[in-house]
Amino acid sequence: MRVRMLIGALSCVWCVGAACAAWAEYEDCDSGSLEAQPKNVIVMIGDGMGPQQLKLARLFAESEEGGEKKLTLYDPDLGLDPDPSSMTTHNVYGEVTDSAAAATAMATGIKTYNGALAVDVYGQPITTAWECAEFVSGKKTGIVSSVFLIDATPGVWAAHTTSRYNYSEVAVQQALKEDPDLEPPDIGEVEVLLGAGRIYYQPKGANGTGGPNLIEMLQDQGYDYVRKASELERSAADKILGFFGGTAMTYVLNRPLNKNLTEPTLADMTAKAIEILDRDNDTGFFLVVEGGGIDWVAHKLDVAGTLHEVLGFDEAVAEAFEFAKANGDTLLVVTADHETGGLQVGELDAAFLAGIRATTDFIQTEIDGGMTIEAALETYAGVGGKGSPWPKLSAQEIQHIQSCGDALGISDVLNARAGVSWGWSDCKGGHHTGVEVDVFAYGPGAEKFGGDAFDNTNIGILLKDAVTH
Ligand SMILES: [Zn+2]
Repeated sequence: MRVRMLIGALSCVWCVGAACAAWAEYEDCDSGSLEAQPKNVIVMIGDGMGPQQLKLARLFAESEEGGEKKLTLYDPDLGLDPDPSSMTTHNVYGEVTDSAAAATAMATGIKTYNGALAVDVYGQPITTAWECAEFVSGKKTGIVSSVFLIDATPGVWAAHTTSRYNYSEVAVQQALKEDPDLEPPDIGEVEVLLGAGRIYYQPKGANGTGGPNLIEMLQDQGYDYVRKASELERSAADKILGFFGGTAMTYVLNRPLNKNLTEPTLADMTAKAIEILDRDNDTGFFLVVEGGGIDWVAHKLDVAGTLHEVLGFDEAVAEAFEFAKANGDTLLVVTADHETGGLQVGELDAAFLAGIRATTDFIQTEIDGGMTIEAALETYAGVGGKGSPWPKLSAQEIQHIQSCGDALGISDVLNARAGVSWGWSDCKGGHHTGVEVDVFAYGPGAEKFGGDAFDNTNIGILLKDAVTH
C-alpha cells in the first residue's frame, strides 16, 4: 500500500513508529483553515437526525408532557437558536448519501461513494481527523456509539476499507490500527472504545464473527474491559473497552421495559469517555460520539422511538457541552450525517406521544408472541382501554396493522394519531433523504462551522485542522 511504503521509506532515516507517519502521510492535517487551536475536540453525530427530528424533540420537550424543558441543542450558546447552520450531505455522485460516504466526508474532508470507509473513489485511503489527532498531535482519542462500534459512522475514523461491510477488517483496524501484519501490530491507539457489537471483536467459534480475539489483545495492553453500566462507572483505567447490548444498545424508549437492564446510556458513556480522556492530559483529546439509534428507528418510521433517541442524544450532548463550557479550550461540534425517513412534524399531539412506551418493533414482537393487536396497542401506546383519552383502534387501523404484518403498520397508525408524517408509508420502510442537516458548534473556532454552501466535507477539513495543534 502507498501509505505504508512511504512510511517505510522514511522511517529508516528520520523517524520511528507513529511519529514518522506525520511526515509521510499527514501533511494535509494542518491546513490552517480553522485558525483557532482548541486543546480538545468533541464531535457528536446524530445518525439520521434531520431538522424535523430535532423539531419533534424540541416541541415535545417544550410541551407540558415533556416537562417544558429546553433541549441542550437549543441552548443559544450552541448556535441552534434562533437559526442553525445547514449542511449539504450528498455523496460524490450527488446522490443521497449513506452513513459511510457521509462519515468519510466528515472524517476526511473528501467525498466518496456510498459504502466507502475513508477511501476515495479509487479505493485509496484518505487521512482522517482521528489519524491527525492520534499521529500528528499525539492526542488521546475515543469512539463512542449507541450501535455497533464498527458501523460506518463510528468505524470510519480509524479504518480504511472499500466496503463498510468488511466488518472484520474494520474491527481489526479500529483495535489494532494499521494492520495485524505489522510486527508488532500497533495495538490500542483508541484509548476509549464504548458501544455495542462485541461479536465483531471476537473470532468465529468464540461467540464472535470476527478475526482475531481483539478483546483479549486489548486486555493484554491494559485495557479495562467492561460489560455493565456499574463496571463502566467504577472503572479507573486510562484505557477502556466496553461492549453493551447486542448489535445495538437497547433503544432509549425501551429501556424502562427491561428492569434488569445493565447498559449505560449514551450520556453515561460520553461522560465517562471525557473523564478518562481528560485525566492528566496536556496534549488534549479527540472524541467522537454517535447517536446511532436515531437512524435505526427512523428507518422504521417510528415517531416515539425517534423522539426518545434524539432526547437521549441530547442528554449526551449536555454532558459534552457542560465539559466544554467549564474547560474553555474545547471545540464541540454537533451535527448529523443525513436525514432518515423524510419526517414532517405537523400538529404534534405531545400527550399522545407521551403515552407511547415502546418502539413499534417491540410492540410487533409482542403481537408475534401472541398478544392481540388491540391489547398490544393499549398496553404500549395507551390506545383504547378503560379511561384512555385515545379512541380504540378502528377496524381499518387493525386491518392495516394485520396486512403490513410488521412494525411499519403500527408506525403508520401511531404516526397519524401523533400528528406526523414521513416520506414513506403504507407498510413501506423509510430511506435516507437529501435534506440538509443542522450544524451546531461551541468553543474555539465554532464560528467556522456554518455559512453559505457549507458542506459535510467542510467538517472534515475543519476537524483535521482543529486536532492538529
Ligand atoms: Zn440509515
